[in-house]
Amino acid sequence: MKLNKNFELIKDSYLFATVAEKTAEYLKENPDKKLIKLGIGDVTIPLCKAVVEAGVKAVEEMGKPETFRGYGPYEGYDFLRKSVRDYYARRGVNLDMDEIFISDGAKSDIGNIVDLFSEDNVVLVPDPVYPVYVDTNLMDGRRIIYADASEKNGFLPMPDYGVDCDIIYMCSPNNPTGAVYDKAGLKAWVDYAKAKNAVILFDSAYEFYVTDENLPRSVYEVEGATEVAIEFCSLSKTAGFTGTRCGYTVIPKKLGPLNGMWLRRQSTKYNGVPYIVQRMAEAVFSEDGQKQISENVGVYMKNAKLISDTLNELGIWHTGGVNSPYIWLKCPGGDSWAFFDKLLKEANVVGTPGAGFGKNGEGFFRLTAFNNYENTSEAMRRIKSVLTK
Ligand code: PLP
Repeated sequence: MKLNKNFELIKDSYLFATVAEKTAEYLKENPDKKLIKLGIGDVTIPLCKAVVEAGVKAVEEMGKPETFRGYGPYEGYDFLRKSVRDYYARRGVNLDMDEIFISDGAKSDIGNIVDLFSEDNVVLVPDPVYPVYVDTNLMDGRRIIYADASEKNGFLPMPDYGVDCDIIYMCSPNNPTGAVYDKAGLKAWVDYAKAKNAVILFDSAYEFYVTDENLPRSVYEVEGATEVAIEFCSLSKTAGFTGTRCGYTVIPKKLGPLNGMWLRRQSTKYNGVPYIVQRMAEAVFSEDGQKQISENVGVYMKNAKLISDTLNELGIWHTGGVNSPYIWLKCPGGDSWAFFDKLLKEANVVGTPGAGFGKNGEGFFRLTAFNNYENTSEAMRRIKSVLTK
């Protein structure tokens, strides 16, 4: 037996472990302090009523002989694929049902899609970045190059025709920066991908947070994207499914053999999403479901706006806060771990140092809107008081 040596290239994920360690240490020394966590990107609001009702009904169906279901289709039940297709159609994106694949979430599909690509592809990844794009390619031994995001480009890097690559990762609205591409920005990447004969792997996990009608929520809102892009989406942040698990991936048939290869891959290695969860996911796309999840996302967006407004008041440069649950701010003082310590110890607020998301993240800091309004307001009051001292 020989080990996959590529695992040696993957750094241990120190970021959240160190955040947790430092936080626990501080609390041990100061047990009476009430910390407010604006760090981890997990949702806090429970599943909405429509989803819960659909889940209960589906559980009951599974307990009766006439409605019981065994193995389901690997690519997802038609009822859910149809709901996803209609959801896209409402925004003017017309897909065929067999271009939509249901999964247990975006991370799995983003991690597994690399099975379809040869190891000698060059991969272009933005920096800072959601670490899954990098680690899954390192595991296979692919060469990774980076598109630098910075204050100068508003953390929205644009294509450089002097750089050649085969696979391009994009995430908009972005985690960790909260930055969102407009249609012209996405079109520039679609054109570049066409010119380089490359594929775009587009992560739209936060599409539901885009409230500006002029901004795209899907890469397919850009002409020509169905020829070059695969899109990954998730109900995790849209509908609080981080523990329930459901997402979907779109592989247009215009991309050639990839659609069929993915079905083959999934039917070999993947069992599909439970019937009960797919019924719950279907309810997300119902009229009631959409209304209820909009209210929940509205709570996070109100928090995001409050954070952004506070930073504006303090004169702190940032991206995100609108059209995104993330706020990416420039650390007063520069060092992102020093800023983490300062907020932890002086404001009792926990955020995430940007350095953990890539070299360009140093000097920046991520706050998330995943909390309730009272805690977020209190955190902002404390941050204001510490930074204006
Ligand atoms: N993509 C991005 C950019 C994310 O931030 C996350 C979760 O934090 C995911 C994908 C994973 O989503 P899921 O829970 O569907 O696996």
